[in-house]
Amino acid sequence: MTQAFAPVRTVKDLREQLAKWRAAGETIALVPTMGAMHVGHLSLVELAKSKADHVVVSIFVNPAQFGPREDFAGYPRDEAGDLIKLAQAGVDLVFAPDVAEMYPKGFSTTVIMSDLTEGLCGAARPNHFAGVATVVTKLLWQVSPDMALFGEKDYQQLLVVTRLVRDLNIPVEIVAAPIMREADGLAFSSRNIYLTADQRKRAPMFYRTLSDLAQDLERGRGCDSAIVKARYKLEGAGFRVDYVTVRDPDTLKTLEGPVKRARVLAAAYLGQTRLIDNVPVPLTTNQ
Ligand code: AMP
Repeated sequence: MTQAFAPVRTVKDLREQLAKWRAAGETIALVPTMGAMHVGHLSLVELAKSKADHVVVSIFVNPAQFGPREDFAGYPRDEAGDLIKLAQAGVDLVFAPDVAEMYPKGFSTTVIMSDLTEGLCGAARPNHFAGVATVVTKLLWQVSPDMALFGEKDYQQLLVVTRLVRDLNIPVEIVAAPIMREADGLAFSSRNIYLTADQRKRAPMFYRTLSDLAQDLERGRGCDSAIVKARYKLEGAGFRVDYVTVRDPDTLKTLEGPVKRARVLAAAYLGQTRLIDNVPVPLTTNQ
């Protein structure tokens, strides 16, 4: 069995290790995560391995991106299990700083982005993307990777990070990775373990409804009526819908009427668990 390896805890140790690889002219890919590794995370690692000489995975449950009534304290954590999975996956280094290393006493800088962060999850979670933008900026400076990989599962986050590195001229390539799903269509997520057995049985309806919505759009149905139908189906199945929407895949601007190219995005609660998912239009393409 593969041995788990010790994570690097400090930026100083991290930079020492990375300097050796860089001096040898080797490339580095970063996969930022909040841990509780699942198939989605490991698919990012696989993609990273195919693109760079070394793969660094960060594990940091970032308090700054959780609201006061959100699940920071209870967020799933399994560092020992994560280290074994990442060693088996062939990761070269795990950076797992504690909160004091990332946010030392007196920390007072926040990266705030307008526009892309304002709707969707940003509307429901007011400081979320400031927390994300700040921690991603820090991780990109700390690791200074050649590339960083982000999942389309968090589609708005992917666009925010892409915009962030462009706006701040951070010299890194942002690589998008496709959404990994369970056999029944539910997107892998660390939060899926919150679902009760009954909720888990109903959960695949989320993806199915978004796919049906995308198909309706492909067949020429207008956004508004397709969205109403999807919302009705989800509510009928016991979801509390935060948003179901059809957006421009690059700008996240709201689209109306029939569309040729779009992204369907949704967030909904099953019990206490907030699920997010998205699909491209047309369904068979990826933008
Ligand atoms: P998280 O630990 O939830 O912050 O996720 C870390 C990274 O994994 C983010 O870039 C996510 O978009 C990505 N990710 C999470 N779930 C999936 C999934 N089901 N498929 C692909 N990527 C995912």
